[in-house]
Amino acid sequence: MPSAKTLLMLPGDGIGPEVMAEVRRVIEWMDRRRHVSFDIAEGLVGGCAYDVCGEAVSDQTMADAMKADAVLLGAVGGPKWDKVPFDKRPEAGLLRLRKDMDLFANLRPAVVFDALAEASTLKLDVIKGLDIMIVRELTGGVYFGEPRGIETLPDGTRRGVNTQVYTTPEIQRVARVAFELARKRANRLVSAEKANVMESGLLWREEVQKLHDAEFPDVQLTHMYADNCAMQLVRNPKQFDVIVTDNLFGDVLSDEASMATGSLGMLPSASLGAADAKGRRRAMYEPVHGSAPDIAGKGIANPLATLLSFAMMLRYSFDMAEDANLIEQAVKNVLNGGLRTADIMQKGKARVSTTVMGESIVKELDKLAA
Ligand code: NAD
Repeated sequence: MPSAKTLLMLPGDGIGPEVMAEVRRVIEWMDRRRHVSFDIAEGLVGGCAYDVCGEAVSDQTMADAMKADAVLLGAVGGPKWDKVPFDKRPEAGLLRLRKDMDLFANLRPAVVFDALAEASTLKLDVIKGLDIMIVRELTGGVYFGEPRGIETLPDGTRRGVNTQVYTTPEIQRVARVAFELARKRANRLVSAEKANVMESGLLWREEVQKLHDAEFPDVQLTHMYADNCAMQLVRNPKQFDVIVTDNLFGDVLSDEASMATGSLGMLPSASLGAADAKGRRRAMYEPVHGSAPDIAGKGIANPLATLLSFAMMLRYSFDMAEDANLIEQAVKNVLNGGLRTADIMQKGKARVSTTVMGESIVKELDKLAA
């Protein structure tokens, strides 16, 4: 049955509009070949929004984001806005979206594509076939805890303070997302904290365990100290399925895990909010990379991280796993066929532009759906 789903596209700055155009191409294909139509609105965020309305995101765009079933964002920022006041910087638009939509669960998959496995700095047998998901708590913890600040002490030395703080609901809501994800994957969850030296870590461990016992006894749960988790991610990353962790450890561990895959241009992400009565969650999807001002306008950006973010949207916001799988398979096939954008170029492969990469994905989708 044809169905309209509301989608807000925010291409942003730099290469954002270039990579987003390739998502449009795939959406048109879906409309044509899969009879799936999206009700699409487009808005400004980042420096381009500041240029037009003096804010990194307007109230109208925020209202559109709150209404949409899902938001797809390109990237924000660039040297042009370096001197703009801090609260109006392009990044402030991104932070407002995350905060006002209360997107507390950040999903960062680390998937190694066979065709690119050699780009990883880790040994081939360690990372070949890697497919893990890191769930990072995004709106709490030490980045937001009070008190915070830098003070000058009576003896003239200075003291910097940040506070790590978590409550039961904050821990349980992000853990619930992780347990649910694990159930749809290999059913294994590792929860990472520092329960040995931090009370907030001990609480984290106890609350995750309680939730497991009450609602997810079928999921295999392991508690791991975050430092050990960091070590295990480079020693034997394939032991993991889903990892859930707090904001600070998640920041570090998700970057570490993603680098096992070799390239920034390939990394998607999702940020999810609380489910409403109908099970619908506010959600924003975006590539991990930034606006890449050094290559903006040259037509050479890799659109795959954004396309893979769109595939995550289909899977997590629209329950369209089959279509998400099609897009992911098309990406694998195109890479196996030897096409590469400049950032993932390897010897003996064919270097293509952003547009040709997008067109090749659509051709591959045609074959897969035939
Ligand atoms: P960046 O991710 O934009 O670029 C880092 C390097 O990777 C650059 O050499 C760039 O050319 C390359 N690169 C990134 N994405 C690529 C792609 N899809 N295809 C090919 N090459 C790609 O990070 P940066 O240079 O540190 O930041 C540039 C701007 O982006 C800054 O203003 C920063 O604040 C902003 N930023 C935004 C986000 C976001 O919107 N979520 C994230 C990170 C940085």
